[in-house]
Amino acid sequence: MSPGGGRGGGIVYLVGAGPGDPELITVRGLRCLRQADVVVYDRLVDGRLLAEAPPAARRVYAGKSPGRQALRQQEIDALLVRQARAGRVVVRLKGGDPFVFGRGGEEALACAAAGVAWEAVPGISSAVAVPGLAGIPLTHRGVAASFAVVTGHCAGADRLDWAALARVETLVVLMGAAHLAKIAALLATHGKPPGTPVAIVENGTRDDERVLTGTLGDIAELAAAAGLASPATIVIGEVVRLRQALAPAAVADGTGAGAVSRPA
Ligand code: SAH
Repeated sequence: MSPGGGRGGGIVYLVGAGPGDPELITVRGLRCLRQADVVVYDRLVDGRLLAEAPPAARRVYAGKSPGRQALRQQEIDALLVRQARAGRVVVRLKGGDPFVFGRGGEEALACAAAGVAWEAVPGISSAVAVPGLAGIPLTHRGVAASFAVVTGHCAGADRLDWAALARVETLVVLMGAAHLAKIAALLATHGKPPGTPVAIVENGTRDDERVLTGTLGDIAELAAAAGLASPATIVIGEVVRLRQALAPAAVADGTGAGAVSRPA
């Protein structure tokens, strides 16, 4: 990696910030951040990471809170291109991995179309790391040999094949917190047993992480009662049971089915 290698010296780094805990960015990502002239960041990026950019670096918020977006995607694309053309090192800092529901592909295409140098710096996706740190391995010998990651954003009105998803051993749903009842109903309609274990991890890898466990049959009600909200990662499948053994402290503190636990 050599910043400034592009035409005119400017370059756009599409950097994954990791799932939440600021220590979960990559070494390369941190190095880019420390060389940035401009940082364009999303809502879920931790303030402690922004503090790693040089004091003089310009910081631009491009995130959206549910329902409201600070900058439209085209404006973000144009900003990245403009700043790189002005010869600056631009870090586009995104939660998790830039290419997992992160629109990183669109921004890379915009750079490529404009002839601006760009480089991807992968991040640790919440899809994998949030369950793992909460004591839920997505695959486990004899339990699950595959997993799928989907968005729950438009559950029911999307082009996902829910009949096929109901047969996947471990299903990870991002952006699904507000659509839990619909997701559970879709899976049940397609034959997923109502007793299938489900976990929801809210604010995963952060100090205020909460984990709720239940079954496909009762999780929507439990989540509503607990007031679980975005960002949350939903895991559906038998691997959720492993949490009993892998996060014993949290579970002992009351996390049978339906209980909410926080990290110690
Ligand atoms: N590119 C990101 C995902 C962006 S979509 C990645 O690779 O992780 C945003 C969704 O990711 C959220 O709605 C939520 O489902 C999930 N997510 C992000 N951060 C999370 C966190 N700290 N805890 C739980 N889920 C998280």
